[in-house]
Amino acid sequence: MEIDSMVANSALIRAREGGGSKGRSWKWKEMLRFPHISQCMDLAMNIERDYYSLCVKQPIGKKLFELFCRSRPELQNYISLLDALEAFDSKSDEQRKEFGVSIIQRFLRSQTPTWMNSDPCMLFSPQSIQCVSVVQKHEQSCIQSLELNPFKDVFHDYLHKYLSGETFIQYQESMFFDRFLQWNWFICLQPITKHAFRQYRLLGKGGFGEVWACQVRATGMMYACKKLEKTHVKKRKGEGMALNEKQILEGLDSRFVVNLAYAYETKHALCMVLTMMSGGDLKYHIHNIGSPGLDKERVRFYAAEVCCGLIHLHQKSILYRDLKPENILLDDNGHIRISDLGLAVRLTDGQLVRGRVGTVGYMAPEVIGHKHYGMSADWWGLGCLIYEMTAGQPPLRARGEHPKPSEMERRILTEQEEYGDKFSKQVKDLCSSLLNKDPAQRLGCRGSGGTEVQSHPFFEKVNFRMLEAGLVEPPFKPDPRLVYCSDVQDIEEFSSVKGVTLDQTDSNFYSQFITGSVPITWQNEMIETGCFRELNTFGPEGSRSPDLDW
Ligand code: ADP
Ligand code: MG
Ligand code: MG
Repeated sequence: MEIDSMVANSALIRAREGGGSKGRSWKWKEMLRFPHISQCMDLAMNIERDYYSLCVKQPIGKKLFELFCRSRPELQNYISLLDALEAFDSKSDEQRKEFGVSIIQRFLRSQTPTWMNSDPCMLFSPQSIQCVSVVQKHEQSCIQSLELNPFKDVFHDYLHKYLSGETFIQYQESMFFDRFLQWNWFICLQPITKHAFRQYRLLGKGGFGEVWACQVRATGMMYACKKLEKTHVKKRKGEGMALNEKQILEGLDSRFVVNLAYAYETKHALCMVLTMMSGGDLKYHIHNIGSPGLDKERVRFYAAEVCCGLIHLHQKSILYRDLKPENILLDDNGHIRISDLGLAVRLTDGQLVRGRVGTVGYMAPEVIGHKHYGMSADWWGLGCLIYEMTAGQPPLRARGEHPKPSEMERRILTEQEEYGDKFSKQVKDLCSSLLNKDPAQRLGCRGSGGTEVQSHPFFEKVNFRMLEAGLVEPPFKPDPRLVYCSDVQDIEEFSSVKGVTLDQTDSNFYSQFITGSVPITWQNEMIETGCFRELNTFGPEGSRSPDLDW
């Protein structure tokens, strides 16, 4: 390795280790000083007063609403219920039913039933029963759903129905909501420029520009910055594609798809700041470490997480179209995320699309064959991925072989893939069901969508509820002392284009692109880096702080 590369790598490794408080600028508190509440008037007028968005979906909103509830004596029982529900979510399946019943007994029982007095297994003494009056009347239906399916969350709906009423109205008149507006001021009104970030080494090269490791100066959070060179975008008419990728990413909030945190511009580039994935891509892990392929536990884990990612995308009517090992990235804990949504499309009202789009070798037969297609193309892609993770090479291609695109297409349309002895009966069955050439017959496309894939015997041991909640430990953790990407000097330099001039039409397009901070990702950044905890203080004994005094 060359000295430049070593220097670049160790700087990145040090920044990653210091991620969070150590990586913050010494001026961080100044950078994140709350505006006076009087500066948030416009925000207060224009913000959509939607309970679900403000108090459930937005991470800082949720925290402030909870702090508000905790400050109200009459809401203590709800808070206890909320705490119990949090514990409920993290219980294993075996513990869940019993714990669920204990929640019902503790919160939803109006009177102490006589049987409880003699029940030796009683978890709570009658005196400690905390009744949550409004939710109470739903006791029977809660018990019923819990009996039917102990994995379903039966309580939150009822709780939210209650809290979204009077409580939500009172919240909006409290200092906690004012504080929410102050946090929001940063998101909506603070312009994002390159000065918000420190830049580290080059991570990779894309079609329109380079991807760099970067760190937010104010919080210490690490991200990957995907740059799209303006002249390249223009020369290759990539405006639609770039905007499409950015708009799809900003509408997603999945732990299995990279998140967009910021979109901003520099003089020469449009920049998308994305979840940092420092564990390398699956192509590298399949082909560059030891003998090609991955062990069965890793195949199962990655396949299950990708499956959840596809389900999230499909739920939002987004077809991904570019599933291949290169586009599945690992984070530093070993979880994966789907990345590179440049080819994704939103299908409105279940309509189908046409277009030979994707990567040679991974395109489904219906895509190659100029047919109209829908989500089926992604389930084919999952089949290719599981095949390649298992065999160490993609379907219908021999090791080291690089057939011409037309030959690859012929094979996909007409030839049957082979399953060597690395394939267990289950994984072979899964792959061949996903690689069914007829989209109507393919696993995942026969009515119940991705749930059918999750129910396949190969995934029997996978607890998808826990996986969705991020509670399953990955089978492999990337080495924090390694940089899982090519050496800096081996990444081809990005060529410059000449003879392209940028004009007003371009500026109009840029203004659609550069929308700044993405609310949910930004709020998570504040929480994860501890900035929220350190800055969100109020005056003594729950009084307002000076910036909140009107
Ligand atoms: P393009 O759409 O132009 O192909 P990609 O999104 O695939 O661009 O990014 C190009 C390369 O940059 C990837 O192959 C990968 O090496 C690196 N990269 C992209 N996104 C990330 C990320 N979130 N974290 C780490 N590296 C990334
Ligand atoms: Mg790519
Ligand atoms: Mg792309």
